[in-house]
Amino acid sequence: MSRDLREQVALGCRILGAEDQGDFVWGHVSARDPDGRGVWMKASTYGFEEIGADQVILVSWDGEVLEGEGRRHIEYPIHTELMRARPDVACVVHTHAPWATAFASTHEPLRPISHEATLFVPPDVARFTKTGDLITSAELGRDLAGAVGDRNAAFMLHHGIVTCGGDVRTGVMTAVLLERACRTNARAAAAGGPKSWSSDEEALSKRGRCWSPQLLEQAWDYLARRLAGGL
Ligand SMILES: [Zn+2]
Repeated sequence: MSRDLREQVALGCRILGAEDQGDFVWGHVSARDPDGRGVWMKASTYGFEEIGADQVILVSWDGEVLEGEGRRHIEYPIHTELMRARPDVACVVHTHAPWATAFASTHEPLRPISHEATLFVPPDVARFTKTGDLITSAELGRDLAGAVGDRNAAFMLHHGIVTCGGDVRTGVMTAVLLERACRTNARAAAAGGPKSWSSDEEALSKRGRCWSPQLLEQAWDYLARRLAGGL
């Protein structure tokens, strides 16, 4: 059971690496331990592309490594505190996604000018602005969870992104889609700024049509096949 979960977290890490969300060895994916002991989380000192099941460790709610070999990331409270606050969340992703970090700094609202952004807006993406520094305490983790609220993502200004979902696939694909949405918005901004975008009504309709669990699974499976070298 835990082996399957570790494999999923590892695959999520490798997908994020292939999607250019790695920042040397920083950024992490976690999954809630089914037995309530804490979170299965990428070990520190490795890049996303290097992660296999053996580099996914069980971290307690207070940051103690309970199972697995490797060191835990100092920012583990991003994961433990968001999951404590959100019983519906079983996966948390934090990356220093380059397009999202750049776009968030413009303070422009994310516009639904492509399919990806409709997973997030309306309303505009949540923003955590208390600090751009590392999230190293439970208190900061709780503040971040408060900024996320009941949403699936937040910009962490001057730092990166956090996304979450009810399973690993959803949490990781949410990070993939947020980064792609920001890339599209940043490109439009660089070309003079978008002149039109989906209405709120159209964006909400597309959210259900484009990003149902089945379609997220298809996109995840495609990225997994591409990683496996089959494409
Ligand atoms: Zn970070």
